[in-house]
Amino acid sequence: MNLANRLKVIKPSPTLALNTKAKELAAQGVDVVSFAAGEPDFDTPDFIKQAAIEALNKGFTKYTACAGIPELREAICAKLQRDNHLTYKPDQVLVSVGAKHSLYNIFQALLNEGDEVIILSPYWVSYPEMVQLAGGKPVIVHTREEDGFAPDPDAIRKALSPRTKALIINSPSNPSGVVFSRDTLAKIADAVRGHECLLVSDDIYEKLLYTGEFANIGNVAPDLLPRLVVVNGMSKAFSMTGWRLGYTAGPKWLIAGMQMVQDQSTSNASSFSQKAAVAALKGPDSIFEPMVKEYRARRDMVVELLNSFDGVRCRTPEGAFYVLPNISGLYGRSYKGTPLQGSIQVSEILLNDFRIAAVPGAPFGVDENIRLSFATSREQLQKGLERFREFTASVR
Ligand code: PLP
Repeated sequence: MNLANRLKVIKPSPTLALNTKAKELAAQGVDVVSFAAGEPDFDTPDFIKQAAIEALNKGFTKYTACAGIPELREAICAKLQRDNHLTYKPDQVLVSVGAKHSLYNIFQALLNEGDEVIILSPYWVSYPEMVQLAGGKPVIVHTREEDGFAPDPDAIRKALSPRTKALIINSPSNPSGVVFSRDTLAKIADAVRGHECLLVSDDIYEKLLYTGEFANIGNVAPDLLPRLVVVNGMSKAFSMTGWRLGYTAGPKWLIAGMQMVQDQSTSNASSFSQKAAVAALKGPDSIFEPMVKEYRARRDMVVELLNSFDGVRCRTPEGAFYVLPNISGLYGRSYKGTPLQGSIQVSEILLNDFRIAAVPGAPFGVDENIRLSFATSREQLQKGLERFREFTASVR
């Protein structure tokens, strides 16, 4: 028996694979420092847990409406209005099993064989794979580190074709931590005006902001609101990765199509996670402050250290919890007699010889970089970076 052909184009998630390998080594007693995690190291706030416990105690443990409980869909609309000045009605909202699931549903509902989706590089590893799994074609528009990873509007114009069905925006970005300014968003909007494609805005890192302000493209281009699709979720802002709760707000026709996909696959997101999400979204904004403060301090420490290493340069991210140091200054030089040539090779050396898990940039579309997450304690960061320094010092 063979697997389906559509799996032939899909690559396994390198971040999940590296995380698994790092955990296996740790289980064998190896002292690995992992920079691979894409999840907060903070616990879920207590009042959110309490809401789930209360739901469980009250027997709220059955199937719910597939699209999500009305109370949560209303809370999401209120959040989008309050935080993002975006107006949606509950029937324009679909609650799913994490933002990853939301994105998966979008592409399953939207794409025909060969339809194109524009993805700005560096990109989250799952975007191209999800597009391909739905039969679509990822069209990559490269951005440059020296431009602060802001896309060139002309490159977007060139990438647009009659088959373009969507463009994905992810700000703050995984992996670069870049936050697009209003001006950059306005330029993207200008580039797509006149083309019918959807704008899928993955706002999952919205609350993890260190400098500047968060804006959604809908805020700078109100004329494009009818084709805006907002994806967000509980994982990153509320430290709720394990609760699996994400959502989409968008045009009714798309939400209805996504619901058909969800009806026939997963059905509703977990009942008590939905109750917890209601509490989270109605809770005070003050819960973000201590987390953001700690992440900012770690970011500053990590960027400063990395920039002091030979062959490494690191831009300061404005948001999310990743740095994307450029290590191309090490390429062409040798480690133990072997010339260094790319991020996958460096990532393997770092794990095998220096016991640090850092995700190679290649699967994010940037082979000159590696991605380090600073969602781990300062002690671990310092220890891991000292090992990284030893690596750079041993390159000849
Ligand atoms: N979007 C981006 C850019 C991410 O980095 C992630 C998680 O790593 C997700 C979406 C998915 O988040 P979740 O499915 O946990 O809500």
